[in-house]
Amino acid sequence: MVGNCLFCDLFQGKIPSTILYRDDDCFIIKDINPVAPIHLLVIPIKHLTYLEGFSDEDFAVLSSIFKAARDFAISEGISDSGYRLTINQKEDSGQQVPHLHLHLIGGHNLSGIG
Ligand code: AMP
Ligand code: ZN
Repeated sequence: MVGNCLFCDLFQGKIPSTILYRDDDCFIIKDINPVAPIHLLVIPIKHLTYLEGFSDEDFAVLSSIFKAARDFAISEGISDSGYRLTINQKEDSGQQVPHLHLHLIGGHNLSGIG
């Protein structure tokens, strides 16, 4: 939790949004600018940023966010058709929000996109 972070503010309700899911480690929202019929963001509650600074405890949070993504892929009905999981890191990736998050993208064929 830090000041001036979009996803921390969003989790704390300072910015309105619909939280679709939350557990002790992470929460899930719809991406405001979806690139596919299903585009969710799985976001750690802790203000994590870049993998190179992660502690062992932080890596355990990654396990939780991947589990949540797996569960949502199943419940959204895209587990069989397929989906993409993306974590952007820093400038060359095009990362816009410097609070680590996992994109869960699917619902149509993404071949040749990205
Ligand atoms: P990234 O480029 O990996 O940092 O992804 C940030 C994502 O956050 C982008 O796909 C944005 O569309 C999305 N985003 C930005 N603001 C919001 C918001 N208020 N609610 C939901 N998603 C957002
Ligand atoms: Zn944050």
